[in-house]
Amino acid sequence: MAILPIRLYPDPILRKRCKPAGKVDDALRGLARSMVETLHGAPGAGLAAPQVGEAVRLIVVDLSLGQDPAQLHVLVNPELAAAEGEQMEEEGCLSLPGVHEKVRRSMRVRVRALNLRGEEIRLDGAGALARVLQHEMDHLEGKLILDHLGRLKRDALKKLLKKQGRAPS
Ligand code: ZN
Repeated sequence: MAILPIRLYPDPILRKRCKPAGKVDDALRGLARSMVETLHGAPGAGLAAPQVGEAVRLIVVDLSLGQDPAQLHVLVNPELAAAEGEQMEEEGCLSLPGVHEKVRRSMRVRVRALNLRGEEIRLDGAGALARVLQHEMDHLEGKLILDHLGRLKRDALKKLLKKQGRAPS
């Protein structure tokens, strides 16, 4: 296990459509464990594999920020099986430091995925959990919060982020 560096916009890997995980093996389990550690270290509510440099369909979600193991979800090859309702809440992203924008999402979702034993699972989420699930699954398509915003706001934020990325830290 290791805390992995989090890729920041405009790193091109954040724009890749990720490949399905072929099989749930020790390498994938190791990546998942490191992602959980990275998520809890950040801390954040969700992390997708491309954010740590792996273009594979794997996400980790934990709204308790490491406080409640029951709220930790590791999802391999997650797929949206159903979505309904609507919500509009502010979101941030570990790859977009400083960006907090309201994003329209479904209020309830059902996600199908594999767990780390390779078993099919189903996860129903509402409210914040639904939002984080949709946010992380967006990452697997190379999609970011920015893509949900109007063009003017998106262009202004992109410019700001690129400037931040060039600035010495
Ligand atoms: Zn994100």
